[in-house]
Amino acid sequence: MTYDIAIIGAGPGGYVAALRAASLGAKVALIEKDQLGGVCLNRGCIPTKSFIASAHALKGVLHAAELGVRLPEGEPSIDMRAVQARKTTIVENLRGGIEKLLKGRGVELLHGQAAFQEGGALAIDGNAIEAKHVLIATGSKWIELPGIPIDHERIVTSDAALDWTFIPEHLVIVGGGVIGCEFACMMQTFGAKVTIIEAMDSILPPVEGAISRLLARAMKGRGIDIRTKTTVDAAVASEGGVSVTLSGDETITASHVLVAVGRRPDVSALNVSAAGVEVTERGAIAVNERFQTSNEQILAIGDVIGGWMLAHAASHQGIAAMQTLFGHEEACTTNVVPSPIFTDPEIAGVGKTAEQLKSDGVDFRTGRFPYAASGKALCDGDPDGQAIVHIAADGKLLGVHLIGREATTMIAEAALAVSKGMRVRDIEETIHSHPTLPEVLAEAAADAEGRAVHKLGRPR
Ligand code: FAD
Repeated sequence: MTYDIAIIGAGPGGYVAALRAASLGAKVALIEKDQLGGVCLNRGCIPTKSFIASAHALKGVLHAAELGVRLPEGEPSIDMRAVQARKTTIVENLRGGIEKLLKGRGVELLHGQAAFQEGGALAIDGNAIEAKHVLIATGSKWIELPGIPIDHERIVTSDAALDWTFIPEHLVIVGGGVIGCEFACMMQTFGAKVTIIEAMDSILPPVEGAISRLLARAMKGRGIDIRTKTTVDAAVASEGGVSVTLSGDETITASHVLVAVGRRPDVSALNVSAAGVEVTERGAIAVNERFQTSNEQILAIGDVIGGWMLAHAASHQGIAAMQTLFGHEEACTTNVVPSPIFTDPEIAGVGKTAEQLKSDGVDFRTGRFPYAASGKALCDGDPDGQAIVHIAADGKLLGVHLIGREATTMIAEAALAVSKGMRVRDIEETIHSHPTLPEVLAEAAADAEGRAVHKLGRPR
């Protein structure tokens, strides 16, 4: 049997591409060596967000008195075994759903490790399969650092941390990026003492500077120790904990260390060079706007091509690649990807940051609006937050950056506006329900042109 396409990797890139290719009439084989759903479903987006929902619920109970709720005597606490069980149920549920969809669309699921053989043929566990096209969607894997040996018990990546049935007493997180900051907020709410060690001069470096500073302030205010411009030179685990040596020769003792210094494309076992597929200096598979590699019969999408390294980017690329290949559509050109970060408070951004606009020499104006002026944020008891909107001289939205409750949901409207090249007037002419948090975003956009209704200032 010859497949129209063999897809390697059933993460949010690969399985979504398989569904779209099948619905366009292609005969599809989906090859997975581990579990359906990839990192996102099994060890990434979904497990972390299920944990974070438990942390939110605990925080809600801890602050319930502020909303006039009287609770029975005693300290509320977290039951990590129950948190784990809930996570497993959610993950298994979703995995079952994916399997049903794939079967329903006639995608053939093949279990095993795919690799190219010398001469370029594709094989699963050494057995060749025939396909007119191949899509590589093998994702990424954790970067490890010298001097910090991962033992999966005391010194771990998020893979092991997501299986913990206990709360670490003192968690040192190496890396103040997205995953490090999400874990820091969640574990601190669960009751752990948390220290973040970040080599750069701020946490979450690519995020809009003002937003990253507000997040750092909020995290420090809750007792999270953030050490920037500091590196971990060594970590030595023993039965009682981990001795962590920092730059400057300071040593701290932690119960556990989470290494979260980023992920890199995973092409290790694929032998892509045998198929004439080029890899960049950074180890990612190089592709053109149709997601074709240097061998045009072989495409690649998702974390393995580097760039955004987000689940929704992988899925979007998978759909776009299949529509160009089997639906004969134009290559997809949108590169507007919203970045949600599920810290506490949440942050999210889309489009350019002030730092990028300045370095590109773009003439822009900025509008801001605080959550504290939002009726909904006050009713929710969560008035800390801000919306920042950057616009061009003609009012076109260039970038939207949010910190505060529901920021990761609110960014959807901004993503639509920025990707469609909308102007401030388009947002103003859209009626926003009251009282809701998206009113904050609409006011920030209007503020960029001096027209925010609930803000004093000189109207333009
Ligand atoms: P993957 O999901 O990595 O899937 C690749 C699949 O390929 C895997 O199942 C793997 O087993 C399989 N595979 C690899 N090699 C082979 C082979 N040779 N043969 C057969 N199968 C193979 N992103 C977000 O957008 N939002 C979030 O909130 C978010 N949270 C995250 C939290 C954590 C802790 C982590 C680690 C990541 C998070 N991400 C998040 C990132 C997101 O998980 C990835 O961007 C996404 O999973 C990438 O999808 P993918 O399909 O490219 O690859």
